[in-house]
Amino acid sequence: MNLKDLTKIFSMSVPVGLVMVFFLISASLGYAYWNLQTQYDSLKEEKASLEKTLGVKEENLSQVESEKATLEGELMGEKQKVEEFSEQVGEIAETVGVLDKLSKIDPELLQKYSKVFFLNEHYIPQGLSSIKTEYRWNEENDIQIHSSVRSYFQDMLSDAVDDEINIYVVSAYRSFGTQSALKSGYKVLYGSGANQFSADQGYSEHQLGTAVDLTVVGVGANLTGFENTEAYTWLQENAYKYGFVLSYPKGNGYYVFEPWHWRFVGKDLAIKLHREDKNFYDLDQRQIDEYLVSIFD
Ligand SMILES: [Zn+2]
Repeated sequence: MNLKDLTKIFSMSVPVGLVMVFFLISASLGYAYWNLQTQYDSLKEEKASLEKTLGVKEENLSQVESEKATLEGELMGEKQKVEEFSEQVGEIAETVGVLDKLSKIDPELLQKYSKVFFLNEHYIPQGLSSIKTEYRWNEENDIQIHSSVRSYFQDMLSDAVDDEINIYVVSAYRSFGTQSALKSGYKVLYGSGANQFSADQGYSEHQLGTAVDLTVVGVGANLTGFENTEAYTWLQENAYKYGFVLSYPKGNGYYVFEPWHWRFVGKDLAIKLHREDKNFYDLDQRQIDEYLVSIFD
């Protein structure tokens, strides 16, 4: 074989080689494309499936959320009911407390008495205690007062002493019997004039154990002229702070002026009467009764 032949063969195989190279490239590109297409299809399928799952999940989620909202609404409703109920329970407990307290307080203590309405002759206070000797006008006579009122009364007299005012008690609790005897005494003294209900309108108040007749040196046991004493002025300015009021003040429409006769009505009511410049007997009984529950506060 000569050089000429070799060149011929060589020149013939160049196009064959090109064709082969082209074929190989096409085949590999085709494969790559097929491969990508397959992957693409599979991903597309996966995406659809995921989208479907997501759709279901979203639907579930919105259902759960709506259920949650409903439950929350119900919960709020129940919570409100519980709150209202406990509020009612609180109110009832408070009412029961007030009623219980009231049931232990003698309703007569704030009763208005008159010529037609007075205490039953068998009435006896819940408890009576002796007033300290130093405050009695006559130290030898035991004087009793309603047990729950004694400390208010003695505090008042003790504070008056601090202001250099010495006040003494002539009379406090008086039983029906004592009162009758006294009335007979008045009858003897004043004749039939004493017969108009009683010589002392404060009769019922003394039988309650919450009223006191007060005096000072210079006035003594017959009580006349007490309104002109420093003690009377002091009581007018201070007695309400201890729960005491004058039952029959000057110019009252019920009975003669009794400057010595003071009745315990509790601090709340006494303060109200003092502040409004009113008399106990001028108030409505219903209005007075509102103060019964706090009489010993
Ligand atoms: Zn009196």
